[in-house]
Amino acid sequence: MKRSSLAPSTKPMKRTPLRATRPAKTSAPIMGKCRHCKAPFERKSARHIACSPACIIALTEKSAAKKLAAEAKRDRIATKQKLIEIKPLKWFKAKAKKALHLFVRTRDEGKPCASCDTILRNTGKPGGDYDAGHFRSVGSAKHLEMDLRNIWGQCKHCNHQLSGNSQEYERRLRISQGDAFVDELLSDNETRRYRREDYLVIEAWAKKEMKELKSGKNKNNQA
Ligand SMILES: [Zn+2]
Ligand SMILES: [Zn+2]
Repeated sequence: MKRSSLAPSTKPMKRTPLRATRPAKTSAPIMGKCRHCKAPFERKSARHIACSPACIIALTEKSAAKKLAAEAKRDRIATKQKLIEIKPLKWFKAKAKKALHLFVRTRDEGKPCASCDTILRNTGKPGGDYDAGHFRSVGSAKHLEMDLRNIWGQCKHCNHQLSGNSQEYERRLRISQGDAFVDELLSDNETRRYRREDYLVIEAWAKKEMKELKSGKNKNNQA
């Protein structure tokens, strides 16, 4: 690099204070702390960071191990990402559905069934004590399968033995949510096309809501 453009300084040079990173050759020994064993040692240059060959080796091994661990982690994430990429749409749907239903069951715990007077209680039965039941059935209104307006806590008897108990479901939904709500839901026949991203959004949303519900419930229990 050409330095001719710089005017020669007439002022006496100002001494910069001595720093460990730029030791002056003529000064007293600069002491440093070994990065491995933490012992004080005489530092010969900025890159001199360990007191002995043994400590240098130890440091090198440590950083190599760190690098390997980071690489392994990157690989794991990439593999996971690849696995997700090859999953079929129904895999994303199943995960979204599971999270959404869990949210509905948690939200409606302690309330009466959507279509009878049974109080929904969680006793930890395998398969759940009650369901997240659809007002308009998945069979006849597939587009409302993930629509929260259409999913409420329902006892297994109503959901399975009474095939959804839809007349009673409707009567009660009209009382709790109003006629406009139910009419709108009944006339909604707009097709939805869910992509994997949509399912991921639903799943993430349901999980976040679940967390908030749970923390709210814990607070209520403590109060
Ligand atoms: Zn050392
Ligand atoms: Zn019921």
